[in-house]
Amino acid sequence: MILSTHAVVGGAIASLLPSHPVLVAVAAFASHFAIDAIPHWDYPLRAIKLKRGAHNRGLLADPRFFFELALIGFDACAGLLMAIWLFATPATIVVIVLGALAGMSPDPLRVVHRALPKQPLTTLQRFHRWAHTKRTLSWPLGISSQVLFAASVSWIVLTVG
Ligand SMILES: [Zn+2]
Repeated sequence: MILSTHAVVGGAIASLLPSHPVLVAVAAFASHFAIDAIPHWDYPLRAIKLKRGAHNRGLLADPRFFFELALIGFDACAGLLMAIWLFATPATIVVIVLGALAGMSPDPLRVVHRALPKQPLTTLQRFHRWAHTKRTLSWPLGISSQVLFAASVSWIVLTVG
């Protein structure tokens, strides 16, 4: 799933447990793998993905790399702002941000693993790949279903919580 979806789900979890930051971090982190299992669409990261194992030497020379980096940054910031906007109060903003960041974190950890292929990141990365759906939807369906999913989770949490 895209980072925004992970951030909103992480923020939703945090809003249910605002006084338990450790539990929020663990549950939001775990939620990443659970919702990655749902068939979806991810924007392609061609420059970043192709350089696997190539010591990333040509990466900075590839103009797509900066575009993809900006896209990831935009996605993460949008998700963080949405989570804050949806769930945060002045008293809970820190834990909401924690939930959103923990929900997104397995994806940046893949990049860390690329640079530093050591345990426990190797096992985490293997688990991430295993948990991730093998079905890629077409982008119109794969994006609209994520919007619908994030909206439903938010709606449920905001009405129940
Ligand atoms: Zn993921």
